[in-house]
Amino acid sequence: MSNTSVAHVSTPLIALTPELARRAPKVLLHDHLDGGVRPATVIELALEHGYPDLPTTDVDDLSAWMLRGANRRNLELYLQTFAHTVGVMQHVDSLSRVASECAQDLAADGVVYAEVRFAPELHVEAGLGLDDVVRAVLAGFREGERIAAAAGHPITVRALITAMRTAARSVEIAELALRFRDQGVVGFDIAGAEAGYPPSRHMDAFDLIRREHFHITIHAGEAFGLPSISEALGWCGAERLGHGVRIVDDIDALPDGSHRLGRLAEYVRDRRVPLEMCPTSNVHTGAATSYEDHPIRLLMDLRFRVTVNTDNRLMSGVSLSDEFMHLSDAMGLTLDRMQWLTVNAMKSAFNHFDERLELIDRVIKPGYAELFRGDPA
Ligand SMILES: [Zn+2]
Repeated sequence: MSNTSVAHVSTPLIALTPELARRAPKVLLHDHLDGGVRPATVIELALEHGYPDLPTTDVDDLSAWMLRGANRRNLELYLQTFAHTVGVMQHVDSLSRVASECAQDLAADGVVYAEVRFAPELHVEAGLGLDDVVRAVLAGFREGERIAAAAGHPITVRALITAMRTAARSVEIAELALRFRDQGVVGFDIAGAEAGYPPSRHMDAFDLIRREHFHITIHAGEAFGLPSISEALGWCGAERLGHGVRIVDDIDALPDGSHRLGRLAEYVRDRRVPLEMCPTSNVHTGAATSYEDHPIRLLMDLRFRVTVNTDNRLMSGVSLSDEFMHLSDAMGLTLDRMQWLTVNAMKSAFNHFDERLELIDRVIKPGYAELFRGDPA
């Protein structure tokens, strides 16, 4: 077994530029709807619905405030910034608008398929029912897809329904996800503070999803270590891991430069469990010390099923092409590796197999082939 081999490719090594990173077709599996609202929209919706608590009503100041609030090397502090985006997403029109703009923004950045997640239980403060919330968001995605396609940037957006791991509504939320499975919802997730809230607290919800042959991804191994990953996979039936960076705690570097994988890390690699890695978010929450030291480099070298994601575009001040540029700057990521990561993500998506294949064969591969040939935009 050669642990350090990288993807062998016949394509030339092309360095990424911001232009190439944006033009290249991309797939996004881990992005929070309430973490990607346009700052101007937060302010407009606050005025429209009389939300009084924004720290500022200046667009640039609000962007800076969010980024400052997020970059405090602590997951719990990071999560506090969401009070304001969630605060203005309590009505049908605001949820639809945010979802539509999300689809348009991702499409303009070159994302061709996205799974965007949100927690319906956080959007019922003004009296909406859980079903109203999901319906409003799905309608927004459809509208955003239409507008993006008309602008020449086709995108497919699917939803993941998140239950808050710190609350006790996960069964209800799992039932909700199942009710909308044929209308654009493709999976179930749990999110929120990880320490003290292991995924096994929500076994009933995961059992229900599994009995119905639906899909599960779990935020695990972000702020908390191997036990969280172990439970997510072994008990809860997670098919993908949100972040999963702490899997490196189960990998030892040996003096000869090779690596020894523990039982859990072997399992994750053998089973091709997709890791939804979010480099910028990890640097901000302290899950990684820097881009240079981010475990994604080692995990790519060891051929784990790595994918690259944004997590929260507003709080982290990033787009998906920015994330790829950060990896290019920190570790020399090239266009062929970007294609490998993108195909990894598409293979790991929760939409149906025929749709995934179609996107890989008709959109992703031809899109990269064009860039390798150096075709003009
Ligand atoms: Zn997340």
